[in-house]
Amino acid sequence: MVVGAPEPVRCPGVDLMGRTTFPGIYVAGNVNDLVAQVVMAAAAGVKTAAVINGDLLGLFDA
Ligand SMILES: Cc1cc2nc3c(=O)[nH]c(=O)nc-3n(C[C@H](O)[C@H](O)[C@H](O)COP(=O)(O)OP(=O)(O)OC[C@H]3O[C@@H](n4cnc5c(N)ncnc54)[C@H](O)[C@@H]3O)c2cc1C
Repeated sequence: MVVGAPEPVRCPGVDLMGRTTFPGIYVAGNVNDLVAQVVMAAAAGVKTAAVINGDLLGLFDA
């Protein structure tokens, strides 16, 4: 039997970068992935921090 990684259990309306449907509100870690372990939660925090920085600088605007 092959056991895969558990599927993330994500908040509705949150994109892969941690943006919520509320402008300026981001999430990372277990609040957005109920089965994340410490390493995954910390990595999501770093990624979301980079996205916040990019959004503030307008780097991702079309
Ligand atoms: C019993 C148990 C055992 C675990 N064992 C392991 C393990 O062995 N290895 C592993 O890698 N992972 C383990 N995990 C998972 C790990 O704990 C989480 O992945 C990690 O802590 C998630 O970090 P986080 O910052 O997203 O959330 P959290 O660590 O839960 O941090 C959220 C913080 O927000 C605070 N908070 C909540 N509401 C508010 C509010 N309204 N205002 C202000 N602050 C608020 C909380 O008090 C908390 O300090 C375990 C989890 C549990 C429950």
